[in-house]
Amino acid sequence: MNALVSDQLARFRKIIGGDKFREIFTSATYATRTPHFGMYTGRTPYSGDAKPASNKELAATFRENYLVDQNADADLQRRQLNNINGLKSINKYPARFSENGLEVFIENLEKNIHRPSPYDAELITRFEIQNCPPDIVITNYSMLEYMLMRQREANIWNKTKEWLDASTDNRLLIVLDEAHMYRGSAGGEILIVNMGRSKNGFNVCKKCGGAEVAEPNRNNVYFISQPFRANHAACSHDGTVATGIFLGYEFLSDMFMLDILYDSIKLVSSGNVEDKSILRTAVTTLHETLRKAVSLELDIDYNEINGGWRPRILSGSEPHIEMFFYDNLTSGAGYSSIIGSILDKVLDRARSILTDCACSRSCKNCLDNYWNQRHHQLFDRQLGLQLLDFAQFGKLPDEYNKSTQTEFLVPLQKLISEDGSQKSVAFEIIPALRKKPENNNTMMYLNPYDLTDWLPNTFMTYKNL
Ligand SMILES: [Zn+2]
Ligand SMILES: [Zn+2]
Repeated sequence: MNALVSDQLARFRKIIGGDKFREIFTSATYATRTPHFGMYTGRTPYSGDAKPASNKELAATFRENYLVDQNADADLQRRQLNNINGLKSINKYPARFSENGLEVFIENLEKNIHRPSPYDAELITRFEIQNCPPDIVITNYSMLEYMLMRQREANIWNKTKEWLDASTDNRLLIVLDEAHMYRGSAGGEILIVNMGRSKNGFNVCKKCGGAEVAEPNRNNVYFISQPFRANHAACSHDGTVATGIFLGYEFLSDMFMLDILYDSIKLVSSGNVEDKSILRTAVTTLHETLRKAVSLELDIDYNEINGGWRPRILSGSEPHIEMFFYDNLTSGAGYSSIIGSILDKVLDRARSILTDCACSRSCKNCLDNYWNQRHHQLFDRQLGLQLLDFAQFGKLPDEYNKSTQTEFLVPLQKLISEDGSQKSVAFEIIPALRKKPENNNTMMYLNPYDLTDWLPNTFMTYKNL
C-alpha cells in the first residue's frame, strides 16, 4: 500500500533524517556515517536502467519542486521558499545532508552519478539503493517479490548477505506492518488465449518453428517466414504445418470477474461495424475506468492490476459482457480478490472518474496515461458512463433534448446547405449506446459519432436516402 509506505518514509525522515540525530549518532557511536534509509516501491524514481536523459529529467523535476530558483524574481523565490519550508514541516522533503544536500544530489544526477554521501540519511533513486544498499528499506510486498526475483536488484541481497556473514552480531530485522491487508495468493489459474483473426488461429511449422496468422480459404498456401535462418537449411514447411493453432499461456494469479447482463436488442450489439466499434469503445472505456478506480481505492499502482474483457453475445442465449481483472504479479498479490468486497466503492469511484472531468471524451486528468496510449483515441467517457448506468441500474441512456439535438446537427446541416441537397428528412439523435432504428425516406436516426467522426459517411447516406 503506497500511502502506508510514504507515511513510514515521513516518519524515518523525522526520526533519523535530521542533523540533530546525525550529530548525536556519530558522536555517541564514533560511526563514520549516518544510518541510511530509502523507499523502494513502484514510485521510487525510476524503473529500468539508469539513463542520462532520465537523470536530466528527474534532476529538473527535483529542481523545480525542492529548490529555490536563484534567477527568479524575489516574490517567486519567497513563495518557493515558503513551499519548501511547508514540505519540510510535514516531512515531505528528502532528508539529505546539510543545507545544500539536495542541490548536491541534483548536481550529481546531472552528471549521471547515483551515489549518496556517508552523511545522507535518505537514498532517493533506485540506483542509489541498488549501488549502496541502505540500512533500512521500506517497501511493499509486490515490489519485494520483484526485488527478490530480478537481476537488477541482486546487489541489494548480495551486499546484505556479505554484511550478515561478516559478523554474528549483524542481524536482519523484517517488520510487517498492516499484515491484515495481505491476503496471500489464492492462485487461480488464468489462461490467456489468442485465437488469431476471426478465430482462425495460427499456422505453425513444426519443423522450423515459423508461424503466421491464419487466413480462411488459403488452401494450404503458407507465408511463414523461417526463424533462425542463418544457421539452418531453408525450410519448405512441406507437410510440417499445423493449422488452426490457438496461442496461449497459462499463469497463476488472483482474478476478479465482473459479469454484465447486456441488452443486445435495445443497445448496440455486434451486428454491424459501427455498432461493434461503439460497443468496443464503451466496454474498453468502462474497463479502463474500473481498473483505475480499483488502483485508487486500493492505493496501489495502476500497473499492479491488469485485465481484459470479452462480449458473450450469441444468438439464442442471454448476452453478457465479461470483464476480468487480475494481479499483474505472477502468483498474485491478492488485490484482485479484494475487488468484490469493495465493489460499491469502486463503482462510485468509476462514476466520478467518468463524470467529474470537463474534457470531451478523455484526457490525462481522467483516463489517459502513459500505459494505455493505444486506447486514447478510443476512450469516450460518455459511452463508458452509459454502459455503467446500464450495468449498475439497468438504465438506458437518456434521450437528448431538442436544443442538444440541434447543436449536434450543426456540422451536418452545414454540409447539406453547402451542397444544396436539401431534402424533406427529419433527424433524431440517439445516444450512441442505443441501437438505432432503421432509416427511412423521411427519417434519419443518428448518434453523436455519426455527426463527428463519421460525418462524411453520414452525409453520403443522407444524399442516397
Ligand atoms: Zn518450416
Ligand atoms: Zn478528462
